[in-house]
Amino acid sequence: MMNSRMGKTREPVWSGHWGLTYMLGVPFRTRMTEQRMNGMRDRRLRWLVRHAWRTMPFYRELLQRDGLDPGSIGGFGDLQRLPLISRDDLRNAGESAWAEDLSAKRRILASTSGSSDKPLPLAYRLNDRLRKHLIGLHCMSMYGWRPWHRGMALGSEALPVNHPLARFGISRWAWVDPSQPVKEWLTAYNSVRPHALHCYPSALREFCFEARKQGPLRWLPKVLSVGGEFYPEELGALAAEVFGRPPLGMYGAVEGGRLAFECEAHDGLHVRPDAVHIELLKNGQEVAPGESGSVFITSLINTVMPIIRYELGDLAAWKQGACDCGLWWPRLTIFQGRKGDVIPLPGGRRVPVTRLASIVGKSTSVRQFQFVRRAENILVLRYEPDNEKEPGVPEVCEKLQQALPGVSLEVERTGQLPRTRSGKVTRYIDEFEKSAS
Ligand SMILES: [Zn+2]
Repeated sequence: MMNSRMGKTREPVWSGHWGLTYMLGVPFRTRMTEQRMNGMRDRRLRWLVRHAWRTMPFYRELLQRDGLDPGSIGGFGDLQRLPLISRDDLRNAGESAWAEDLSAKRRILASTSGSSDKPLPLAYRLNDRLRKHLIGLHCMSMYGWRPWHRGMALGSEALPVNHPLARFGISRWAWVDPSQPVKEWLTAYNSVRPHALHCYPSALREFCFEARKQGPLRWLPKVLSVGGEFYPEELGALAAEVFGRPPLGMYGAVEGGRLAFECEAHDGLHVRPDAVHIELLKNGQEVAPGESGSVFITSLINTVMPIIRYELGDLAAWKQGACDCGLWWPRLTIFQGRKGDVIPLPGGRRVPVTRLASIVGKSTSVRQFQFVRRAENILVLRYEPDNEKEPGVPEVCEKLQQALPGVSLEVERTGQLPRTRSGKVTRYIDEFEKSAS
């Protein structure tokens, strides 16, 4: 009954098949008033929920289970009536969470990295992907990047070389494989001379160390940004030394593309209201500003596999007050990446890895580092020193120990720490829990 009433509806404003209105409008989004933006977002959500109901068995069953009429969802005011979804739910749903109205041939497949969890396969159509890229490039353009500029992505595949826009000459990005030796990154950098450099934070760290060794950079990019891992504040001083400025952090996820970005005010990350709706929840309830909550996203971009009230697994808090840059888009502080990155301490306390990382990361004699929990009360700091003569890290250890009462801290100097396939350094390994399970 409901199904027949839904019928086949045309995707309004942001057309599903062409998305032209959406795409042409992207460069002007920052000037849109909150009221107009909200109108657009509500229309989009209404369409997405109906679309999910019509074409995805997974969502149909979910709504039926809760006795929800998709036609009764009028916009984000009704969002809380929709069920919350976990990564496991989507993984178990498999292809039943993908739109049936798109032939398998036209599906573009992707997957989450699976660094903290089993990977989740995702599907898009070309337009979803174009929208994602446009959003990413628009964030870059707010930093001063222009389509005719050269870019270099170090370790981050957020802007791959072969994206659809590159065919039209928009955005020329060189992608440098971070599994190559660091010296080669510098060689590539010096030959590309990028206007925009986008890196994983851990890769930027290494780049800075290598660059410092080779002397002042002969070329400085207009735009320096990081993303793909939690954004550690500790990079600021190091990057300022090498590039003359701290990097701008971008927050994204394979599931939703670019979600938020830091502006020149360096005071939290602006959420992109045209790409995503973010809820910060604790026990299913929205948290108060300044309080930490788990990040749930509703993506306004994905149409093959809608992401509605989906738990991303990061922790964040809302920033209060207006931003100095003048943009009204709401701001987040990201406390930590995927939830796994919290170290349990004896006595039931927990400390985020990022807190420890910001202590060690500020040291300019530690090139890379990693924490290993070896027993319930033994934590090991493994680090790669900057050079052979380096005298050790007594101040770092002292500060770490203060942050870790009741824990026995051990220090290991190592050669090069292993990198993941995508070139990241795993910041935390829990050997104790692994041996227990
Ligand atoms: Zn701002």
